[in-house]
Amino acid sequence: MCGIVGYIGNRDAFPILIKGLQRLEYRGYDSAGVAMISPEGDLNVYKKKGKVSDLLDSCKDKNKSGNIGIGHTRWATHGEPNDVNSHPHYSQTKDLVIIHNGIIENYASIKEGLQKRGHTFLSETDTEVLIHFIEDIQENNHCALDEAVRLALTKVVGAYAIVIMSLEDPNLLIAARKGSPLVIGVGKNEYFIASDATPIIEYTNEVVYLNDFEIAVINDGKLKIKTVEDAPMTPYIQKLEMELEAIEKADPIVADVLREGDPDSGLAALVAAEEMKSPEIRDALAWACLHHPSRAVRVNAGATLFYMAGLAEDPMALDFRTIYIELGDEDPAVRRKAFEQICDIVGMPPELAG
Ligand code: GLU
Repeated sequence: MCGIVGYIGNRDAFPILIKGLQRLEYRGYDSAGVAMISPEGDLNVYKKKGKVSDLLDSCKDKNKSGNIGIGHTRWATHGEPNDVNSHPHYSQTKDLVIIHNGIIENYASIKEGLQKRGHTFLSETDTEVLIHFIEDIQENNHCALDEAVRLALTKVVGAYAIVIMSLEDPNLLIAARKGSPLVIGVGKNEYFIASDATPIIEYTNEVVYLNDFEIAVINDGKLKIKTVEDAPMTPYIQKLEMELEAIEKADPIVADVLREGDPDSGLAALVAAEEMKSPEIRDALAWACLHHPSRAVRVNAGATLFYMAGLAEDPMALDFRTIYIELGDEDPAVRRKAFEQICDIVGMPPELAG
């Protein structure tokens, strides 16, 4: 699932990107990268296999200035985890950069067509093909970048959350999603983009959850949303209420479990809590997963087990019992799998659950 962070505004983008990527580390990843456009107009891309801390080390003495930037933690699907395959990826002219979470299923045929027209690729990723494709459309159609993104997405099969930045236009960020979550934080003359709200919450509590097949264009301080079919949408700004107090209000039992960090006794308590099925509790648990993944996930998985078992004698409940046990080793891959399954089955908002 990996992590996506973007920033455009008046602050230094780099620290926001790095902090955001660290907040998203719980999702699991194998490499990390960032790109910023400096005030002098240079597009600086730094990427590295390994942890966000390795990325930080590798660009210690480099120019990281800029009020616009994108950051990514990768979970490789196409091409081994290495520096070259890490995101961001450039377009053919190196004017555009992209970060992508997901899989472009029909990338091979698109790549073949582009190669016939002289495109050369540096990485083995499906993602690099997408940004070349977008640039190719822009050049052939002589259209704006957001239109090229839209046209490209009408041809793409797969799942994606993407953010694109253009050296030509340092006041522009374009994001889109299908199948992978993306949240936009709306600040004062600034915008944040992330895979979930955790990198955003300390800057603003106003967010817009992008829906599938929507494209967000942040240009000159304004956010516009349209669909891949080119229908304009009015951004729906929601207030985030993911504070610890919210958990405490939602259910004292949950709050105690999290504070004490005792998932086993917590599970017993939760099994006894009939109100477990309430959406408030589920939201509170989702919040806890984001902020205290190592201990809260066990509580959450246990709670979900109860939730499922309470609905019916569903065999899925057994899976959750397995997850609950496996989570003891706190392997990020296992946690991620648990997140996805919990999210899918109980219909928890993926933006909250990660
Ligand atoms: N498919 C892309 C890649 O392999 C993105 C993977 C991800 O979601 O991190 O680079």
